[in-house]
Order: sequence, then C-alpha cells, then structure tokens
Amino acid sequence: MSFVVVIDGPSAAGKSTTARAVAERLGMRYLDTGAFYRALALKVAQAGVRADDAAAVTAIARGSVIDFSGSPSQAHVFLDGRDVSGEIRTPEVSEMASRVAAVPEVRRLMVEWQRAMRERGPLVGEGRDLGTVVFPDADVKIFLEADVETRAKRRCRELQARGIAVSLDAVREDIERRDHRDITRPDSPLLAAGDSHRVDSSGLDLDAQVDAVLAVIAAHPRCPSSRASG
Ligand code: C5P
Repeated sequence: MSFVVVIDGPSAAGKSTTARAVAERLGMRYLDTGAFYRALALKVAQAGVRADDAAAVTAIARGSVIDFSGSPSQAHVFLDGRDVSGEIRTPEVSEMASRVAAVPEVRRLMVEWQRAMRERGPLVGEGRDLGTVVFPDADVKIFLEADVETRAKRRCRELQARGIAVSLDAVREDIERRDHRDITRPDSPLLAAGDSHRVDSSGLDLDAQVDAVLAVIAAHPRCPSSRASG
C-alpha cells in the first residue's frame, strides 16, 4: 500500500498550502478532497438544484465524473472532463460544498473516488475526514488547527489576492458556519482521529507549519524519503 499522509482540520487552517509544500518536498502526490465537494457543488448550483434536496444532489453526484491530478503546485480538478479548478474557489461554492458534503450518499461516492487516488502512488491528502474515514490506516495523521481570527485573516487575504472583495467579518462568519456544519453533521463529522498529531498553526508562518509537519513524518519508520528530515 502506498505511503499516505493526511492533514485534516477546520476551514482555512492552512491545510492546503501545508499539504502542497509537504508533498512537493517529499516528491509525493497531493490530494485536495475538498475540491471534490466543491466541483459537485458547482454542478449542483449550475443545475439550479437546492443543496438540501438530498435525492437530487445524489443523482447529480452519481452522474458525475470528478478527477484530481497534477503536481502539488499545479493541481487541477476536473468535472466531467472540464477543468474547474478556478471556478470552485468562490465563497458561494464554499457554502454550497459544505451543504452537499452533509449528504451521506454523496460522501460515500466521494470517499470511493478519493480512496482510488492511493493507487497512483504515495500521497499527502487534506480534508476533514481523511484520518477517520477515507484513510483510517494512513501512515501519518496530522490535525492542523488555528484560532478563528487567524484563519479568517488568512482566508480574507487569499480571496482579496484573487480579486474577490470580502470583509473580514463576512469571512469569519462563513468559516464559523461551515465549521459548525462540518462538526455537527452525523455522517463523518470533522474530528481529530485518535492517533493524529495535533499542530496549532496560529502563531506559525508557512515555513514553520511545514517544518512541524515534516518533523512528524520524518519520525515515521516507513517515511519514504530522507528529504523529510533535511
Ligand atoms: O477544504 P475545502 O474548504 O475546500 O472544503 C470545502 C467543503 O467540503 C468543506 O466546507 C467541507 O464541508 C467539505 N469537505 C468535507 N470533507 C472533506 C473535505 C471537504 O466534508 N474531506
């Protein structure tokens, strides 16, 4: 079985940037599981279907092909063969993704597709349920956290850098609403796996976050690369 590192945690904790950097450093694939829910959300929104119509959302998911590929710095998500990597990064899609992610049958399908990514080789995955549901046997499990103010500021800067006008208050509310939905949903809630290493990134810059995660990986006896400790 391929070596798997998972990074779970709440919205905007720095999972994506950290996972990409770690994957790059170790020469492993990068898997963004949130991108699967976002791609489906985009399709649901474009079809004019309500996120709480579980039967209709499930039918759309069953009729979709979602794939994720590319290098960690140039990763792309494809919806029915179309590259939707840019389109899925809006606050509207974030909100819709968090709603469709609560539908159990949708999660079952996404988990199946995400697990299949392991067949392509060692990977660093990030999401909410990787250590608990998708890859419960992952070699290294990280739970990356940060206080909500830090996370809201980071997400605000990211969106503004992409030309999306948002206020800090709106971003904070959005993050808190999505976290609450992720934590309280009955199916695969956001939860630190019992055997995960918790990393609090509140006071850390990206380099320090990456180093903290690499240190955990380097301590693993099956760590595939000496680059984790260099
Ligand atoms: O990580 P990202 O913000 O892109 O994820 C979008 C949404 O997808 C999250 O708000 C969460 O509700 C859902 N998600 C999930 N399980 C995952 C990854 C994402 O429920 N493994």
